[in-house]
Amino acid sequence: MDGEAKAVEVRPRETAMECAEIPGTSLQVSRVTIGTWAIGGWMWGGTDEAESIKTIRGAIEHGVTVVDTAPVYGFGRSEEIVGKALAEGGLRSRVLIATKAGLEWQGERVFRDATRARIFWEVKQSLRRLRTDYIDIYQVHWPDPLVTIEETAEAMRELFEQGTIRAIGVSNFSTEQMERFRRIAPLHVLQSPYNLFERGIESDVLPYCLENNIATFGYGALCRGLLSGRMRPDSKFDGDDLRRKDPKFQTPRFAQYLTAVERLDQVAQQRFGKRVIHLAIRWMLDQGITTALWGARNPAQLLPVDDVSGWQLDTSAKAEIDRILRETITDPIGPEFMAPPARYVAPK
Ligand code: NAP
Repeated sequence: MDGEAKAVEVRPRETAMECAEIPGTSLQVSRVTIGTWAIGGWMWGGTDEAESIKTIRGAIEHGVTVVDTAPVYGFGRSEEIVGKALAEGGLRSRVLIATKAGLEWQGERVFRDATRARIFWEVKQSLRRLRTDYIDIYQVHWPDPLVTIEETAEAMRELFEQGTIRAIGVSNFSTEQMERFRRIAPLHVLQSPYNLFERGIESDVLPYCLENNIATFGYGALCRGLLSGRMRPDSKFDGDDLRRKDPKFQTPRFAQYLTAVERLDQVAQQRFGKRVIHLAIRWMLDQGITTALWGARNPAQLLPVDDVSGWQLDTSAKAEIDRILRETITDPIGPEFMAPPARYVAPK
């Protein structure tokens, strides 16, 4: 938008971050993206602005060049913090902003709205909060069953042709929905849940993206912290933290997931001299994911980023991981609890 502020100093790093192209665009992304849902506070028990700004700038020090956000994260708060961190740090030109459209809220009730009118209104709000005049990667947050895919795709194509957005993405779409979308507009990015415990996209969505040159952004890379190695049987979550309702964090499943994490951590240490947090991210990347979305709320949480580059999982390690998952998680469950409803219906 305006001339950039004087850039904050970003220290050089020891390990080179891996990068990947977004096919069909001139954009290159780091293979770790910082996710800023928790930074928005809502559903994560609150936020601290100064700490969040340090976290975003810290991510850049670790070689991260993409920041993922959304209007709904903190109802504008996350985008505002991202905008402030980048604009006041003079960092806008060094970072790709990935944001989203297509969720509306009334109070704290969220529902889908991917109409053309909503998308054109939202993009203006996002540009203002992000303090920029273009969005690098603009994603439809959830498919809206009450609006045709064609209407949504047409709106996204228009924004792309105007140059307001530099790449088009969709999130939480099926292959059939992507197929319909691509008849109307180019599709550069798919954002989907993906981590060691949530592998639903492996059956069709991931192969479809690989075949059709669509970059994949895997969200919930740490399964909301489960795969960080920090969780204990007595871990507690405050306020509106979504993990108070997340079925993976409830008895008796929580114990199964914690056992899996413990055994995965042993594999990471014995085979690679790493920890489960590194293994979780490395595994996603080696499954063909373009970039792993890693949510962090303080700079220390990003220290392990340096140790995910420069090594790979071999076939035997992948097979051992699959065996551990089969043996420990006898009652798996996906991330479906996070899906917002189609439209808000006021309680009677
Ligand atoms: P995540 O990355 O799996 O987990 C994030 C949480 O893990 C953090 O908030 C932190 O929680 C914990 N953590 C991170 N690094 C850690 C470390 N080094 N040690 C210990 N704990 C650590 O989950 P996510 O934030 O849900 O997903 C990542 C991003 O994906 C989001 O921020 C968002 O950008 C995107 N996303 C998109 C959608 C969509 O529908 N498109 C949905 C969900 C997420 P605590 O400190 O609180 O424990």
